[in-house]
Amino acid sequence: MEGKWLVGVDIGGTTIKMAFISLNGDILYSWEIDTDKRDSGRHIPTSITRSIDQKLTELNQTKNRLIGIGIGAPGPVNAEDGSIEVAINLGWEHFPLQAILERETSLPVVVDNDANIAAIGEMWKGAGKGAKNLICVTLGTGVGGGIIVNGEVVHGVNGAGGEIGHMTSVPKNGSPCNCGKSGCLETVASATGIVRLAIEELACANDISQLGDYYEKHQTITAKQVFDAANEADELAKRVIQQVAHHLGLALANLANGLNPEKIVIGGGVSKAGDALLGPLKEDFVLFAFPRVAQGIEIVSATLGNNAGVIGGAWLAREKLFNKSMIIKNR
Ligand SMILES: [Zn+2]
Repeated sequence: MEGKWLVGVDIGGTTIKMAFISLNGDILYSWEIDTDKRDSGRHIPTSITRSIDQKLTELNQTKNRLIGIGIGAPGPVNAEDGSIEVAINLGWEHFPLQAILERETSLPVVVDNDANIAAIGEMWKGAGKGAKNLICVTLGTGVGGGIIVNGEVVHGVNGAGGEIGHMTSVPKNGSPCNCGKSGCLETVASATGIVRLAIEELACANDISQLGDYYEKHQTITAKQVFDAANEADELAKRVIQQVAHHLGLALANLANGLNPEKIVIGGGVSKAGDALLGPLKEDFVLFAFPRVAQGIEIVSATLGNNAGVIGGAWLAREKLFNKSMIIKNR
């Protein structure tokens, strides 16, 4: 099986990231295509299939090179048949992704949730560095999460395991969340949530703030500006980050108290704030974590960026398709 390739695919709302990856997890070729959302996303599997074929032709390779496809999609996944229960931004409902893609590509396919494959990617080749027990949280437009226990992703009874973004952080009078609840972690720790907290703080604060000046002029701010202002000692921005760190520290400490993991990996666009967030987050985490849990843990920034998903997809293909087929062959 020397020289065989794994295919990692990460479906997002605007682009689909794809890669041919070695059995050791090294990205050999990576590229992306637009997500074709026409007709309730029904062309997505075909566009993935075509793109794989095109890339193989470009590289003078045949499908024999490929072991199989590991693919991540937004939304809860039915582990039985690799279908997506619902992915609102793609237009999918009970979408049999695995079945269609296997038929179209003639390759074995394994499907998981996009946040889960990102967590697996970080476990395998990223900040997880092989830790078998880790929590991965992605702070972007929303808050995604993946929990890995003994090297396996926690899916739960109906595919909703690891939904860290929907842990309740503000039990009373919280902001409404996309999931239908209110006060979810996502409403206070996502980029959108941070901006909302900052605007709330600006409305009731009367201290001089560069953030306030900017907002007054442009009537808009970004999460990055909040972090930049905090780094430049803007007191108001610092208070906003303190609130974010408080909610995130509380949620992650409670989660860690139940799991006793080795690492918490913080990824996503918001994590680019680095120590401006990680510093206060670690302080709050220690406040709420069981002391022995806090002693055993390391909180780190994700290292794979946008590649986490395709690498995690490749790991799934290797573990679930390649290793399994080897076991059957060796019987
Ligand atoms: Zn929610």
